[in-house]
Amino acid sequence: MALYTNQNIKIYNSLSGVKENFISINEGYVGMYVCGPTVYSNVHLGNVRTFMSFDMIFRYFKHLGYKVRYVRNITDAGHLENDADLGEDKITKKARVEQIEPMEVVQRYTVDFHNVLQTLNFLPPSIEPTATGHIIEQIELIETIIENGFAYVVNGSVYFDVHKYNESNEYGILSKRKLEDLIHNTRTLDGQSDKKNPQDFALWKKAENSHIMRWPSPWSDGFPGWHLECTAMSTKYLGEFFDIHGGGMDLKFPHHECEIAQNQAAKGQAPVKYWMHANMLELNGARMSKSSGNYINPAELFSGKNDIMTKGFTPGVIRFFMMQASYRSILDLTNDGLLAAEKGLNRLMDAVGNIDNLKSSRTSSFDVSEWKQKCYDAMNDDFNTPILIAHLFEAVKLINQVNDKSATISSEDIMTLKATLYTFVFDILGLIDNNTSDSGIEKLNAAVELLIKLRKEARINKDFKLSDQIRDELADAGIELKDGREGTTYSLK
Ligand code: AMP
Ligand code: ZN
Repeated sequence: MALYTNQNIKIYNSLSGVKENFISINEGYVGMYVCGPTVYSNVHLGNVRTFMSFDMIFRYFKHLGYKVRYVRNITDAGHLENDADLGEDKITKKARVEQIEPMEVVQRYTVDFHNVLQTLNFLPPSIEPTATGHIIEQIELIETIIENGFAYVVNGSVYFDVHKYNESNEYGILSKRKLEDLIHNTRTLDGQSDKKNPQDFALWKKAENSHIMRWPSPWSDGFPGWHLECTAMSTKYLGEFFDIHGGGMDLKFPHHECEIAQNQAAKGQAPVKYWMHANMLELNGARMSKSSGNYINPAELFSGKNDIMTKGFTPGVIRFFMMQASYRSILDLTNDGLLAAEKGLNRLMDAVGNIDNLKSSRTSSFDVSEWKQKCYDAMNDDFNTPILIAHLFEAVKLINQVNDKSATISSEDIMTLKATLYTFVFDILGLIDNNTSDSGIEKLNAAVELLIKLRKEARINKDFKLSDQIRDELADAGIELKDGREGTTYSLK
């Protein structure tokens, strides 16, 4: 029986504003869509935090035995500078400034995104669709919305009619806004004159002559609106009603609000059962964002080459730092916070590394089964990773106490403790111990160098039996020595 049958997950649903029991639409399956990056610049650590929250959630569902289809898109067209319907396409602008093709921009920053995520030990999503790869689906969706009477065509562009929609639906249902308030608070900007109302949003925009990224459509050569791609791709891969839609808090309005409206207008139903929003990463007290200049890129944090932190931090420390906060809390990235996370991670990893040396007793002075369920309970409570980590540190304390003989543990409990710690530390939190792996390689290097030296001395002393023995036994252990002009080197088979 799959593990999930015994665990009762509660998810804070941003739509209802309360924690709800998680019951997947199709038993045993979870469909999750998360808005991916707009690939016009290097990802910063704020972006990373949002994606890491959903990576952890993906990992937990998988661990529980669900078949998860996790779709995280790449926005490679349609996202305009001001996040609404004005300004230049973010990717086109970068291409113009750098004098390269838009698709070169897309390629460069998609590769950066993947490299960063891999370094931080992310699992790849099940599908990573691009907006430009789904233009046909987006055009079809617009046609349906027009047919259903919720969109209108003006001068080759198509706009979603928010006022019409609101007559029979609730625009603002997710972000808890009222259309009347929006009407009072919207300034009419130049260039929006095509719209019936300033609250309407573009589904298709006719491209100006200078706009390079363009596709033919029934209305004009143009490009899709930013909100549309997520509706088209989530529907295509997860269906018209799926389990979880996630993204950063800043996407709730207008982006996710518009996704709901588009789906209602096209299919007559809400798209998503549970809406999840990850909270923002701050840098020294202010929201991290590219546009404000208040950001730090992962590479700068790894290398320590930045003006903000006193040293570099490993990917493992950054991951641990982020997992120490609930995905729903604001998290402030500071030098002190990272230093503390580094210490914490080292303590945790030392204890994990010590489990195999524990001496068992006949009985345990600690209830390991109860502790194990507490770890699950923390995750079941809306993925509460800080509480989970507090429980992991109870295990650290236990391991240290058993080592100095102030606590006892049975051999059976050692096995449960080890399996549970490995599950939560590596599989679910996705932590990595960069220190150990680095120093492990260093230690191996030192040991093999010593053997190479001893072999050389043996040969000088004409003790070929010993020199061959060193070479052969190392080879049996998977370490191959190669004699070259510059001396002897080794490689791992
Ligand atoms: P973008 O590439 O701007 O579309 O953003 C990609 C993702 O990063 C979105 O889900 C944003 O909500 C998220 N994001 C942007 N800034 C931050 C931040 N400071 N903290 C957390 N998430 C962020
Ligand atoms: Zn989206």
